[in-house]
Amino acid sequence: MVNVGVLGATGMVGQRFIQLLENHPDFEITALAASSRSAGKRYEDATTWYMNEEMPESVKDIKVVETNPDAMDNDVDIVFSSLPADFALKVEKDFAKDYVVASNASAHRMKKNIPLVIPEVNPQCLDMIDAQQKENDWDGFIVTNPNCSTIALALTLKPIVDNFDVKAVRVSTMQAVSGAGYNGVPSMAIVDNLVPYIGGEEEKMESESLYLLGSFDGNDVINANFKLSASCHRVPVIDGHTEAVFVELNDGFDIADVKGSMQNFKGLPQELNLYSAPENPVIVKEEDDRPQPRMDRNAGNGMAVTVGRLREDKAFDNSFKYVLVGHNTIRGAAGASILNAELINDKIL
Ligand code: NAP
Repeated sequence: MVNVGVLGATGMVGQRFIQLLENHPDFEITALAASSRSAGKRYEDATTWYMNEEMPESVKDIKVVETNPDAMDNDVDIVFSSLPADFALKVEKDFAKDYVVASNASAHRMKKNIPLVIPEVNPQCLDMIDAQQKENDWDGFIVTNPNCSTIALALTLKPIVDNFDVKAVRVSTMQAVSGAGYNGVPSMAIVDNLVPYIGGEEEKMESESLYLLGSFDGNDVINANFKLSASCHRVPVIDGHTEAVFVELNDGFDIADVKGSMQNFKGLPQELNLYSAPENPVIVKEEDDRPQPRMDRNAGNGMAVTVGRLREDKAFDNSFKYVLVGHNTIRGAAGASILNAELINDKIL
């Protein structure tokens, strides 16, 4: 077994880590860290538990520690980070001296030699790790996963980019409130309403997607060569981001081929049969009224993205559009880091 710790363990994503890691065949939680507000308490006492599933018995008595490497048990090999980005900026580097850091936070995404990875999309970027360790003289390293709405989009675009010549992508999101953390969006702001702005989200979707769908030349990532524009909105849904995606190609296409490319899409996690890998990363639904967050967010144990309403876009040349739903705290956050760690455990550790 690999011993793992969770940083930000009391938060929305931290709790999802704990729920997903229960009964994991390779990873066992032995350390939990949070802020000084929680440190020193039993996990059960420190945490207001938000998950639908019960808090695992195995973590209730773990004493929460301060988020610094000195407070962490030396037996830990991997730390999953769900810290606020500003705090993650410093502390994740301190942990990387000795630990593998699988981070959800945006602090180190797309930095030189720090891989931003979706295992089905760009596993080759893990090759940056050697250079990262040498550059910093670290025994550990940092690997990051993308923002929640980007992960769902990039998974559905990967088979399209691999099989067609993409000219432009436009995406409009309808994002769940859990994406902002428990205290992120006041109920008075979101009930009977939507909020047409999520700070920094459009910039993240636009830059991270082109990085993920680009190529890696052994030193640097060369961004994908098409334009991508995002408009991001918060809606009164608890879990599950919905996105309306509009794709323009340089050439003509057959919509059945687009559908086939998504249905047949598999990546390295499926080939390696990793524990958290869904059988099909992208599921295509035929019903006119799917996907819907409540019905489709848990597809593939929350690790698959569901696509529906795939159709030609007759208003523009060489264009089609579709709607997707992905679970933002599973595939979009904790599940993404865990899948990265499973790939690292299989290939690197
Ligand atoms: P959250 O619910 O607000 O949880 C924050 C966690 O960080 C808590 O455990 C908190 O501990 C801890 N923390 C806060 N300030 C700290 C400090 N100064 N020192 C040490 N620990 C501190 O937030 P979240 O939604 O889980 O998000 C966590 C991270 O994941 C963020 O970077 C976010 O952008 C990213 N992310 C979230 C999602 C999502 O869908 N929610 C998706 C992708 C990425 P206490 O309880 O002790 O205060």
